Amino acid sequence: MNSKQITVTLPLFPDLQDFIPYLKDIWQKKWLTNNGYYHQKLEEALCEYLGVKHISLFTNGTLPLITALQALRITGEVITTPFSFVATTHSLWWNGIKPVFVDIEPVTFNMDPDKIEAAITPKTTAIMPVHVYGNPCNTERIQEIADKYGLKVIYDAAHAFGVTVNGKSILEAGDMSTLSFHATKVYNTIEGGALVCRDKQTKKRIDYLKNFGFADEITVIAPGINGKMDEIRSAYGLLNLKQVDWAIENRRQAATQYRQALKNVEGISFMEDIQGVRHNYSYFPIFVDAEKYGMSRDELYFKMKENNILGRRYFYPLISTFPTYRGLESAKQENLPVATKVADRVICLPMYADLKKNNVEKIVKLV
Ligand SMILES: *Cc1c(COP(=O)(O)O)cnc(C)c1O
Repeated sequence: MNSKQITVTLPLFPDLQDFIPYLKDIWQKKWLTNNGYYHQKLEEALCEYLGVKHISLFTNGTLPLITALQALRITGEVITTPFSFVATTHSLWWNGIKPVFVDIEPVTFNMDPDKIEAAITPKTTAIMPVHVYGNPCNTERIQEIADKYGLKVIYDAAHAFGVTVNGKSILEAGDMSTLSFHATKVYNTIEGGALVCRDKQTKKRIDYLKNFGFADEITVIAPGINGKMDEIRSAYGLLNLKQVDWAIENRRQAATQYRQALKNVEGISFMEDIQGVRHNYSYFPIFVDAEKYGMSRDELYFKMKENNILGRRYFYPLISTFPTYRGLESAKQENLPVATKVADRVICLPMYADLKKNNVEKIVKLV
């Protein structure tokens, strides 16, 4: 990155001076990982901030997906969306589960609940939707279908940190929800993630599973994995949590500025806030209608790049087009017309807490 570039995202950093006392304390305690002091503190603080009862920290946002499937003993086929980050579908593959893709709907870009039932077979055991760009899925409708067919629901909520619907956390929907605290997300612990579940017993099982399956020194209850978050990143996370509301408010202001400036640009559309939802403004995607705009999405994307503005074609290509998945019946383009169209049109504009007003101006001017 050169200094003139406006990049697509910048991480949220805690204040370095504030971090040093935490580091000193960790050095003094001589405890680096395995459910240490800061790990416990961060789990408590996140439960409070997010409004959930049970959370288990992980070393990234992919292992909670893999572990959720293990904890719920999911097998066979799982219904999911091709319009996501590859980790969603990869987590199924790592569990030997066959992903079944259904199309998305064009307002929230989330899995279309009306397409789920047709994809259910006797082998289906679960649904794995994604709250894309932090837009809440239609969780009530998805739960109705899950209940009707006896399916589990695991939400990939990697984009949905702090999102609430009518004051209630979106993470309370379904059987479990996963979060990512990767450096590029609204809230980060450098690398990190979490699994939100409904009860104490399940949380205990997840905690065993993320520590090789150890229930005590000599008892291994299941083939667990190593997914533990360490003390340094837990402390970093505690500090970053103090400024996440500030970060979301700044992102909201940038989103408002983008919308004001782009609303009259022919051929460019974008998302609006949804009534009753507290958004986190994790991304600012725009959708390019080449005919009306007079330029294709890729032409605009490269034009921006030439002008030192780095957007991101997120999510393009669709997961269903990657070699691992494209042979699946459900991966056929005819099965996924909306997702295909959206993936061909989207560019996520730069969006982060420190994004300056004059940079937003520069970006919209170019667009
Ligand atoms: C970032 C992300 C993940 C993976 O999280 P990591 O922390 O990078 O492992 C999973 N799903 C979605 C939708 C994501 O955006």
